[in-house]
Amino acid sequence: MATVASTTTTTDRLSSFNPATGELIATVPILTPAEVDAAVVRARTAAASWSHLSFEARTEELISFRKALAAHADELADLIHRENGKPELEALVEVMMALGHVQHAAARAETAMEPRRVSAGMLANFRATISYHPLGVVGVIGPWNYPLYTPMGSIAYALAAGNAVVWKPSELTPLVAVRVAEIARETFALPDLLQVVTGAGTTGAALAKSAVDKIAFTGSAGTGKRVMIAAAERLTPVLLELGGKDPMIVAEDADVEKAAEACVYGALTNAGQACISVERVYVAEAVHDRFVEEVVKNVRQLKTGGDDGHLGAMTSPAQVAIVRDHLDDAVAKGAVVHTGGAAAISGNYIQPTVLTNVDHHMKVMHDETFGPIIPIKRVGSLDEAVRLANDTIYGLGSSVFAGKAARTIADKLRAGMTSINSVMGFAGIPSLPFGGIGDSGFGRIHGDEGIREFTRIKSTAEQVMSIPLNMMSFRQPKDMPKRLRGMIKQLYGQGVVAKATDLFRKLRS
Ligand code: NDP
Repeated sequence: MATVASTTTTTDRLSSFNPATGELIATVPILTPAEVDAAVVRARTAAASWSHLSFEARTEELISFRKALAAHADELADLIHRENGKPELEALVEVMMALGHVQHAAARAETAMEPRRVSAGMLANFRATISYHPLGVVGVIGPWNYPLYTPMGSIAYALAAGNAVVWKPSELTPLVAVRVAEIARETFALPDLLQVVTGAGTTGAALAKSAVDKIAFTGSAGTGKRVMIAAAERLTPVLLELGGKDPMIVAEDADVEKAAEACVYGALTNAGQACISVERVYVAEAVHDRFVEEVVKNVRQLKTGGDDGHLGAMTSPAQVAIVRDHLDDAVAKGAVVHTGGAAAISGNYIQPTVLTNVDHHMKVMHDETFGPIIPIKRVGSLDEAVRLANDTIYGLGSSVFAGKAARTIADKLRAGMTSINSVMGFAGIPSLPFGGIGDSGFGRIHGDEGIREFTRIKSTAEQVMSIPLNMMSFRQPKDMPKRLRGMIKQLYGQGVVAKATDLFRKLRS
């Protein structure tokens, strides 16, 4: 299978297995730090040419790349299905969403990076401009749960902004990345514009330490911290898209059937292995029992495993162990199991599990579970729901099902993103920036912010005419201190200009 960035000195190989069958799919090289560095050097040469192309020329190439990926959609989905374990349908959705980002990033780059004139303030003889420029080489480190969609949320935007990319995929899902890199090599005029460096954590660590101009990392908070520490050696800026413990709130006046249907999808898609999975649900007392009944009814209609299954295999046995631990802990502390449960875990398959009678002393309510579990908690008021929803070190996604109060509740949630009367809606809209706060990381992918994330900001102050009073000179009139005192009073104190400015602000508000 496939070529990756330089392999000459590599001795070790990494095996990619199908988590549903245990079958070995293929092996890829484990690149050494020296090979990672060499890939970055090649990327820098590519970046120099790519960054000088016009937006139009880059867009043309990105469109060709998108078309080439679309032509291989079945093959890419099949690789995702086999390496990650998710059903084929979900793998195809992932490919489609990744393509949406390539399209969106290409279409928006020029507008997002358009230089902006801003007020020059009291330096009225200046023209003040903010402009955006490519960084150079962006290192992208991706996870295994959405091995194409998630890294593409950085790759497409970094490329569209005029950068070259070196991509380290998860050791659990390297093959889809290798195939994408082959397609990129065949499509882009610059063969080193998008390279893949395969390997385990050490390869990722080498990329974080390399001479890239930014690291875009998606993965767990623990690894994110290690990446940040490694990047600090060169003061390389980092973008961290980390885990979450996304809450869902269901108010008394919500459409309970719709909320339950959405909850089941939001918690169980990709077998719950999504950073924006619904991980805990707070339901108003008045509708709690009806909601639980609906959720259980929906869950009982789902099939785990098989070609027509709704839930596939968990991608790694390590994740199965975490889910089992959370279930055991919850049950030991009094949770009630309505479907599934630890006893129903078989190999890499976990039956979707609905829990009630849960509280925040349980791991399942405060640690990221990353599995097909729906813990539902009854709440006495919306204030309690908001307080509990915000009782987390994370702050990635969230969702609210409610009538009139929906927007007010949403605004009170301490999270990077909120869906109202839907789940994960924000992830399906490429123009909305994606990212979190707290232990969910910082920085944004997607949207115009996601393009500018891969640029450096340049401020230009251009003097367009001379004025008699030049403050940026040592040649000043003798009475300058007196003039300055007058100006301070006039502009910022009780002077006529300051008063007029304050009045104008009041009239506008
Ligand atoms: P990990 O943190 O284990 O790994 C993420 C990536 O980092 C992998 O490519 C991994 O390589 C690599 N890596 C491991 N060690 C190092 C190191 N020392 N230096 C640099 N890179 C390293 O996360 P998972 O792959 O387990 O992904 C699951 C996590 O990702 C969850 O917490 C989930 O919430 C989060 N996530 C966040 C998203 C978001 O947008 N906020 C989206 C999707 C997932 P290898 O696999 O080879 O060890």
